[in-house]
Amino acid sequence: MHESLRVNGSRLERRLEELARIGALESGGVCRLAFSPADKAGRNYVEGRMRSLGLEVRIDAIGNLMGIRPGREPGPVAVCGSHTDTVGTGGRYDGATGVLAGLEVMETLNEAGITTQRPLAVISFVNEEGARFMPDMMGSLFVRGDLGIGQARAVIGIDGTSVGSNLDDDTFPGSDDFHGFSFGSYLELHIEQGPVLESEGIQIGVVEGVQGIRWIELNLEGAAAHAGATPIEMRRDAGYVAGAIAQYARRLSLEIDAQRATVGFLSLYPNLVNVVAEQARLTVDLRNPDSARLGEAERRLHDFVEQTAALERVRVRSEKRVDVAPVVFDARIVGIVEAKARVLGVSSRRMISGAGHDAQIMAGLCPAAMIFVPSSGGISHNVREYTSAADIECGANVLLHTLLELGASNSGTDHAKFMQFNGLTSF
Ligand SMILES: [Zn+2]
Repeated sequence: MHESLRVNGSRLERRLEELARIGALESGGVCRLAFSPADKAGRNYVEGRMRSLGLEVRIDAIGNLMGIRPGREPGPVAVCGSHTDTVGTGGRYDGATGVLAGLEVMETLNEAGITTQRPLAVISFVNEEGARFMPDMMGSLFVRGDLGIGQARAVIGIDGTSVGSNLDDDTFPGSDDFHGFSFGSYLELHIEQGPVLESEGIQIGVVEGVQGIRWIELNLEGAAAHAGATPIEMRRDAGYVAGAIAQYARRLSLEIDAQRATVGFLSLYPNLVNVVAEQARLTVDLRNPDSARLGEAERRLHDFVEQTAALERVRVRSEKRVDVAPVVFDARIVGIVEAKARVLGVSSRRMISGAGHDAQIMAGLCPAAMIFVPSSGGISHNVREYTSAADIECGANVLLHTLLELGASNSGTDHAKFMQFNGLTSF
């Protein structure tokens, strides 16, 4: 059914251009920091599009915006979406692609006169980026019930204002708590923000999950000494231990499947040419899509640090700064995305997201998955971010056909019951 249906790619390209004019930077990028006037104007634009498509618009207390397209019967909704806020010097594709492609899918279905069995919806989450107000993914955390409205409103941003005061200045937020709304599934089309698809000449990334992250901060304390007069075996060289750890991070990346380990920050004291370093401070960023392997990497790192530091008689203080578990997306939806790409005759590969997305939060509420399209040069969070109209059209067609299947078959989670069951409330 509807196999020949396709989105209108040039119309979608035009909508992306329209949205990119809101908060446009002279350099070609966009600045729609969360809850700013430009962000509000962007959300108003999306709301206007939703209304003109005849969608039922619902807005919650933090400003998450949902447009619902009824099905033949009520019930679990096949939701797609993303975000329209950006970092301070962002591109026009991060987030906007998923929201506007979702609306293009609705417009395509309207034109074809198709009513799905179950309702479909497009959601635009507020403050995905977290560039002005932390945490990132604030809107989806609110929907999932991890963040209450009081907590969210109290957050102070980089400019000293609170989320609450910005919401009060803004007539935008509603009071809807999505009561009675049942999330059947959540699917997010997004630019890859990395170089893999483009470098392999593949059009669609079938995203199986999001890798877990651990940040370890290490403070090493040895003894300052003369670089010429102190024999090697008598040194307590914190710089040497730090360098060995950076080497070991690369070894972990090569020896543990799918592991990435990076020493991105390193400072020495006193940091002078002819003095053995007394102190070293460094961070190790560990990422893996598998939590057991991520745990293994961390254990091996700590063993190595302990042994190497002990041999050099250097004291170690270690602190874990970030610990985010990996997310595995729903196998059924991942399989549907892959099958639809095949039917549409476009190349695809399975992959793991290196960046965080609302979909990883939603995966705790309902079955979720993501579709990636290539990022030119792997560049994102940058005004030079670019994805071709043809690639976006291709992603939107995979989104269309995956949603059609989900809209025919979802069984879902009643949002109010989910919140009750978890003892959570957003309000
Ligand atoms: Zn994004």
